[in-house]
Amino acid sequence: MTAGVIRPMRGRDTEFFWEGTAARELRVQQCRDCEALRFPPGPSCPRCHSFDQSYVVAAGTGTVFSYVVHRHPPVPGKELPIVIALIDLDEGVRMVGEVVDVAGDEIEIGMRLRVDFHRIDDELTLPVWRRPEPVEGRRA
Ligand code: ZN
Repeated sequence: MTAGVIRPMRGRDTEFFWEGTAARELRVQQCRDCEALRFPPGPSCPRCHSFDQSYVVAAGTGTVFSYVVHRHPPVPGKELPIVIALIDLDEGVRMVGEVVDVAGDEIEIGMRLRVDFHRIDDELTLPVWRRPEPVEGRRA
């Protein structure tokens, strides 16, 4: 079912991100000089132009800034409709992602989401977004 999934472009600037998802970490690039976070990853810092970069591991929680419910055209490896959201991470960067357990008529701007990881194969693990885990009623 996922055999035909679209594979993201990977390169020197994004490898840390995909190594992160494989380790179930959502990594956000960080400038070593001014400590600004940025997404998508790139070779230099848009704020101070430094090429010295690192990353932080995001908490994996965020808020829906905007979304689309994609019904057409077909997407390889996907059963439509799918919900694609722009998510403002709590760390302050904005990321696009697929929301996997919220229906198209349930998603709304401002909704809280948490990241999860969908392993496709040894090479690729995609971040996906879900409703936050219920806090009440859970015992450690
Ligand atoms: Zn910088």
